[in-house]
Amino acid sequence: MHELSIIQGVLQDCCTRARQEGAAAITRIELVVGERSGVSVSSLEFAFEAARLGSLAQEASLVIEARPALARCLECQAPFAPQEGIFLECPQCGGPGELVAGRELLVSSMEIETNL
Ligand SMILES: [Zn+2]
Repeated sequence: MHELSIIQGVLQDCCTRARQEGAAAITRIELVVGERSGVSVSSLEFAFEAARLGSLAQEASLVIEARPALARCLECQAPFAPQEGIFLECPQCGGPGELVAGRELLVSSMEIETNL
């Protein structure tokens, strides 16, 4: 399952950073997942349940924000919501479009707990 390797990578990065900051635990991880990232939010949540065990994020809550895709026309620069499929066509002028948002998958915030 490709979501499992993704969430393992996310957890690894979060745990590395949390350790650098002297964290005892990660309490919350927020992810932004683009509509066109090819990743299923429910599979990510499911994979997280398994992947977090034994890590600093064992007790962390996972919050996933799904970000809608956005395209922009290469001809007239108009932004538009992309249609299904891989061809993006501008609804204004029929020109070709490029995807400017929606493929991202990133950690938007993380909360940690430190032992003082
Ligand atoms: Zn256009």
